[in-house]
Amino acid sequence: MDNLILENLQEETKAIPRAKDLDYLCVERSPIQGLGLFTFKDLSACEVLFKLGGKKVYRIYDPAFAQCDLNWMGMGYQEWLELEQGDIGLYMNHSCAPNAIVDKHLQVITLRPVAKNEEILIDYSTTELDPYWSMNCACGQPGCRKTLLSFQYLPLELKREYSRFLAPAFGERVSALRK
Ligand SMILES: [Zn+2]
Repeated sequence: MDNLILENLQEETKAIPRAKDLDYLCVERSPIQGLGLFTFKDLSACEVLFKLGGKKVYRIYDPAFAQCDLNWMGMGYQEWLELEQGDIGLYMNHSCAPNAIVDKHLQVITLRPVAKNEEILIDYSTTELDPYWSMNCACGQPGCRKTLLSFQYLPLELKREYSRFLAPAFGERVSALRK
């Protein structure tokens, strides 16, 4: 298993469980889209739930590739995590008002208290730096952005809020216009 885990995982994150080892998480039909990941117990804010597994992949950004539907999560500049088959982290849906985030150590962390039976939702713009990537959103939240773009195009306040969890490549794009 260790050889599948990202090479830059830090020592202190190794004790964090994998999603499949957590009996309070379950994949069920989601009101947002398809299947989603749900918790069957109350969670507090800033709780580290589990870490994702996969391998790091690199690719140069290009418009055609950006629309491919792959299980890749952007972790840096032209750098992604290709999630392991069967990782239930794959089922995390997007919300413009997320209750969790994937941090730079690939840990899924709650952003606020999450009630029993709630779906675990992340903001997909926090896992993408590809300037060509976009996705339509119908999450139904009052602040829904409708069209999702990569992290660098988020409103400044959101970038500030999210960047403290994310890899330096994201932090570098908080105030800069750099794509
Ligand atoms: Zn939305």
